[in-house]
Amino acid sequence: MTRNHEVDLIRLKEHLKALRLPTIQAECAKLARECLAEGVDHLGFLLKLCELELIERERKAAAGGGEGPALPAVKLISEFDFTAQPTINRLLVLDLMRSEYINKRENVLLIGTSGTGKTHIATALAVEACSQGKRVRFYRVTDLVTQLLEAREERQLSRVRSQLSKLDLLVLDELGYVPMGKAGAELLFDVMSRAYERMSLIVTTNLPFEQWTEVLDNERLTGATLDRLTHRCHIVETGGESYRLKDARRGRRPREVNKPEAEASKGPEQTPVNTGRPGA
Ligand code: ADP
Ligand code: MG
Repeated sequence: MTRNHEVDLIRLKEHLKALRLPTIQAECAKLARECLAEGVDHLGFLLKLCELELIERERKAAAGGGEGPALPAVKLISEFDFTAQPTINRLLVLDLMRSEYINKRENVLLIGTSGTGKTHIATALAVEACSQGKRVRFYRVTDLVTQLLEAREERQLSRVRSQLSKLDLLVLDELGYVPMGKAGAELLFDVMSRAYERMSLIVTTNLPFEQWTEVLDNERLTGATLDRLTHRCHIVETGGESYRLKDARRGRRPREVNKPEAEASKGPEQTPVNTGRPGA
């Protein structure tokens, strides 16, 4: 980058700050490089920038604003290194990027240990869906559960439910990191149950299916939740080795057939899906 470029970039970022476009400010330089490499023209570049800003706003609004819980930064699939994560079914992920699953009301379950790219892929799918005009909300599961519990306290549950019911895609990130208690699990199950066959869900989790009962605090509820989620579902296993750790150990290239035996991942065939679907 030449001296001039740097000065331009600094001035541009100041303008973007004044215009209150924080996501464009954060992403413009990187996206400009990508668009240049991919031969995307100026209008295409501007379109992508605006889409990023919009989805970030949507997500902040969905998270309730206020104290502003940590939201994942915007991630694109072009930034994802599939060779570093050989467990992941690249073709499936690229196919999902077409957002066809949303038209078919199918779900996506991303399962694998921490740092293996689940949130990255879920975010990229959400960004893409958003750019195709779908109505999308992105929640960390704990944030959604907290919001639902609060809404119930304030007798606002039906308002929140009706907002959620208007979506095409609901992303639930990090199911399983924190146990959520019986009331929280019931509210979450209710959301997933209402979503069933009406919109698409993307769920990311580090939990093997056998452990879902611990988190959802209720065996029958868990069975029913899993049953609905995994019916018409694309399962993306992200594997067992953290990209962050691997990245930290730069220089030591991962061996090609070193397919990590992901403790947290089970294929769909092995899925111990409970068959008892509740009447409700
Ligand atoms: P998880 O949600 O599975 O815990 P993340 O998606 O948050 O993992 O990934 C952790 C960090 O590593 C993020 O910054 C993400 O962008 C990056 N990352 C993970 N896997 C890859 C990959 N294969 N290529 C590029 N970046 C990756
Ligand atoms: Mg994550």
